[in-house]
Parts: sequence; structure tokens; C-alpha cells
Amino acid sequence: MSAFAQRVIAWQRAHGRHDLPWQASRDPYRIWLSEVMLQQTQVATVIPYYQRFLAAFPDVASLAAAPAEQVLALWSGLGYYSRARHLHRAANEVMTRFGGSMPTDPEALASLPGIGRSTAAAIAVFSVGERAAILDGNVKRVFLRHGAIDGDPGSGAVLAQLWALAQARLPASDLPAYTQGLMDLGATVCTRSRPACGRCPLAVDCRALASARPTDWPQPRRRPAAPRRDLPLLLIRRGDAVLLQRRPERGIWGGLWCPPVCDRPPASAAEAIAAAADLLVALGEADAGAACAGGATVRALTVFEHALTHFRLVIAPWQVDLPVASAPAATGAAALIDCRWWPLRDCADAALPVPARRLLAGLAPDASSPGEP
Ligand code: SF4
Repeated sequence: MSAFAQRVIAWQRAHGRHDLPWQASRDPYRIWLSEVMLQQTQVATVIPYYQRFLAAFPDVASLAAAPAEQVLALWSGLGYYSRARHLHRAANEVMTRFGGSMPTDPEALASLPGIGRSTAAAIAVFSVGERAAILDGNVKRVFLRHGAIDGDPGSGAVLAQLWALAQARLPASDLPAYTQGLMDLGATVCTRSRPACGRCPLAVDCRALASARPTDWPQPRRRPAAPRRDLPLLLIRRGDAVLLQRRPERGIWGGLWCPPVCDRPPASAAEAIAAAADLLVALGEADAGAACAGGATVRALTVFEHALTHFRLVIAPWQVDLPVASAPAATGAAALIDCRWWPLRDCADAALPVPARRLLAGLAPDASSPGEP
């Protein structure tokens, strides 16, 4: 076994994490769920989501059978919602392609939606001790620093070098301890901005540390600035209910509930009211549309930015309060454009993206500063 692997394993046994909820199990379904939730998300954030999700869907069959909306609702707040959609789709594929039994072979795992090479390897390692290499973001950082590897870490050449290293350093045994050790080192010692080299088992031959500038690695990625996308939202409230629209499956926040998005940003309060009135008429609520045009109050809330993987969203919310004279009509038109009046008290349980959740919290009766992001 290489000195590198020996150091990682010994350190993991003495100082690594041993009591994370998913470490108590070798069930590939539970490991899969934890690995997907941990992508781009910290352990402390993941734990309560993991526990709620497992309570609702204790096995792959229950996840596959659940409505997509329930899956998204339990994911709501974790972000990167394509992970939840892929998870649901993959559970259905496990039922149809693998007879309801989660595969543990990395190749079969990687054929499922949302499971990349590194995640497939982690599931295989932790469920059956497979000898497979992982390379998530944290582990890449450890390798890049330990070897002082130059170049754009997102480039094909550097990635190929990292995968070759990851493969070459695999020990012949103790794969779970080694893999967990790499993950733990990346998450708790060789952190992005403040690596704790003084307590790192790899310090003895770390080339980045030897340079005295460990944070010079990973070197910056060469990628263009994320493009801007405007998202003007209408928060239409009537009494204690708010109008929400389900986002199309494809695109930003696919399948989640969100305040309706205007076709074009209202330039004034009058334009926001007109857009809200048009929407109500389209919903089959002609009376409410007329009442909106005649008696609604409107105000522009603070514009704020929200970063997604490929976009910078600039969210411009308009709050429109309708007169409460009429009850919302249940119309076929509402179903057609996937709109629904939600009682504000129920919004906490709805499948909402984080910015919408914050905005709706601002509409709650006891909120002191409505709509402030
Ligand atoms: S010695 Fe420092 S820079 Fe090198 S791997 Fe360890 S924590 Fe990272």
C-alpha cells in the first residue's frame, strides 16, 4: 500500500468522521441518497434533509412510487433541484431495469440518471467495499495541492491527470476507510480558503505546503462570467392566500412552485397591476381581474440576485395585494396554466425554490419587512 493511502487510512481511523447518519448503513439506497445530497452541500445542511427524506421514502420502491411533487417538496431548500428529479427518475429505473434492487457495480450505477463516475464509485465502495476511485470537488482539491498540479482544474487534461492519480493511489484493501478519509480531509482539513496543514497527514510531502502558498491551488478556472437572466415575479396576494405557478419541467426550478413570472419586467406599478389583472383573467377570474385593475395595491420589492450554476438570476418582485371581496374561483383555466392559490400557512411545506420561499416568508402576517431577500 502506498504511503499516501496508509496516511489517509490511519488519519481517518483516528480523526475522521464516524458518526454521520449514513455511515451506520451499507444499504446502497441510503448511501446513494447521502452522496447525492452532499453534492455541493455541506454535511450540517444535509443531515435534517436526509432524515426527513428517509422517513418519507425508506427504500427505493417508496421513492419510485412517490409523486414528483412530494419528492421536490422534501428537497425544497437544498437547491440544485435537478438532483431530486434525477433521483426520482433513477429510482423508477431501478424498479424497471434492476427489479427494484439497487445495483452496487460502479458501471451499472453510473448508467442511472444523476449518478456520475465519482458518485457511482462512492456508493460501490461504501456498500460492498468495491475498489473504485472517487474524485469529488473536495478530493480534487487535496490532490491538486498535494501534487501542486498546475492548470485549469476543469480542463480535460488536468481531470485526466487527477483520475489517473485517484486510480493509482487506491489501496488494495480498506477502501471504505480510505475513501472516507479523502472525503473528510477535503471537507475538514484541506479546506478551500484555510487549509489546516498543521494537522494534515499529507503535510510531510505536500508540494503546495512546501511552496508556502497552499491556497494557490486549485488554480483559477478559465470560464466566462455567468450570463444574467431577469426574473420579474408577481406576488399576488388575496387575504391569506398567494398565487403560485408550477414551473415547467425543463428550465430553471423545473417542477417547483413559484410566484408567476412576467413575460417582461414591469416598468411601473401600473404595468405590474396590468400584468396581474391579465393573469387573473387568463385564470378565469374576470371579476378579480377587474377588481385588481381598479383596487389593488402594488409595490416594488427589493431587487436581488441569486446565483445558479449557469445563470445569475436578477429577481425583481412586485407585490400585488388584491381586494379580498371575492373568493378565488376553482377553474379549469387555473389547472391549464398550472396556477394555484396557496394559503400562506401551507407554503412552508410546498416545493419552492429558496428565493421564492424567502419572499413568501416576507408575506406572512407577522413578517416585519415583507419581501426583503
Ligand atoms: S498539507 Fe495543507 S495543502 Fe497539503 S494537502 Fe494537507 S491541508 Fe492540503
